[in-house]
Amino acid sequence: MLWDDFINSKWHDWRGSGRSEDRLAREDWLTDFMNQYQLQVNLPLTPDELELLRQLRSFLRTCVQHIVAGEPPSLREIEALNRWMAAGPVIRHLEIDEDQNLELSYIPQNPGLQAVTAEIAGSFAQAIEQGELSRFRICTNPDCLWVYYDDTRNRSKRYCDDKMCGNLMKVRRFRAKKKQQSDSER
Ligand SMILES: [Zn+2]
Repeated sequence: MLWDDFINSKWHDWRGSGRSEDRLAREDWLTDFMNQYQLQVNLPLTPDELELLRQLRSFLRTCVQHIVAGEPPSLREIEALNRWMAAGPVIRHLEIDEDQNLELSYIPQNPGLQAVTAEIAGSFAQAIEQGELSRFRICTNPDCLWVYYDDTRNRSKRYCDDKMCGNLMKVRRFRAKKKQQSDSER
């Protein structure tokens, strides 16, 4: 989804090296991201534009942190979200092609980065409106911090990826337990 892909543009090395990467600063990553979600913006971004994206990202991450902690979005957060969305109004536009296929599109009235940030904020607003707040997650591996929506039937997805973070944490728990055992034997 647009909103979580965007938040995860701040990448943390889940293996625990402490490395992180801000993918918003990478033009190739941004190009793919904008194409994937059909967002139109001139690249490279100016430093101010990059800063605007980072502001939105940190705002959205804070919202997710609150949700994960069991706090529903506050009025302040909702107002802030509304401001991001209001900066990029759209006109709905229905088209029909030669094959009689109908397509409803949303034409940004403020093209450029504000349309992009409004679209991202809108994706998040839709997720909290239509999704279940209890399914928002931040990967339980403290080195990872990947944000995702748990769409498993029994809401059991504790890690962004069971093969990666899931296994790593299993190994860590195992080692910690062994250490505890050997310490107490001493
Ligand atoms: Zn993870």
